[in-house]
Amino acid sequence: MKDYEAYLLDLDGTIYRGSRVIPEAVRFVQALRQEQIPFLYLTNNSSATPQEVAARLTGMGLPTEANEVCTSSMAAAAFLQQQLPPGSSLYVIGEDGLCAALTAAGFVLDPKEPQAVVIGIDRAFTYEKLKVASQAIRSGALFVATNADAALPCENGLLPGNGALVAAVRTASGCEPIVIGKPHKWIVDYALKRLGTSSAQTLIVGDNLNTDIEAGHNSGMDSLLVLTGYATAADARQAAIKPTYVAPDLWSWWTGRR
Ligand SMILES: [Mg+2]
Repeated sequence: MKDYEAYLLDLDGTIYRGSRVIPEAVRFVQALRQEQIPFLYLTNNSSATPQEVAARLTGMGLPTEANEVCTSSMAAAAFLQQQLPPGSSLYVIGEDGLCAALTAAGFVLDPKEPQAVVIGIDRAFTYEKLKVASQAIRSGALFVATNADAALPCENGLLPGNGALVAAVRTASGCEPIVIGKPHKWIVDYALKRLGTSSAQTLIVGDNLNTDIEAGHNSGMDSLLVLTGYATAADARQAAIKPTYVAPDLWSWWTGRR
């Protein structure tokens, strides 16, 4: 088996489940650190800042630095920096993690004549926000979504995800969004740039065929499906886009790879 120079690691279902880390994933991350193999956590989550994600992982018993985290909000900010002049104004539907990433990238958050509308999960979504966003898009603003996830897993089941909000704005505006998060290439491009490795040298890992594994496919990368979360071995066999590898968990993949 090929030796990869770097790893992109999904979080929920791959590194932790609910409020607990997956022990085999922790051993894998420790092995990467010991061998000084670079990695980034790649999450479609747009509401948390990288500091918050790192603090959560650290609190679960996996010491993590903010610079090891790559969120869809950070990738959206990097994408917009490529598309718009510095200091452009944006209309944002989203929470702290998204607002912080866009502000840090030099954008001004202003609902009046924005050059882009950016949408991440917003648990205070309203008709008024839908109206401002769709009118701005109809007036020519770029329409960017951090991710299009239909559902947000939580301890008590599935809650509506950002994809549901994006669908409302898409219907109201008549425009298709540019989606940044997995399975789309933008978040992977951003993460690879941060790692400084090529798609051919990097392995993407996750528990979801439709986001993680498809993201690998869309970016021309090898992928590893771990069966510690959402997908089962039967799902992997039936998938149109198959992972390069399937393993019960990260540690068994690591120890069995040579
Ligand atoms: Mg996952």
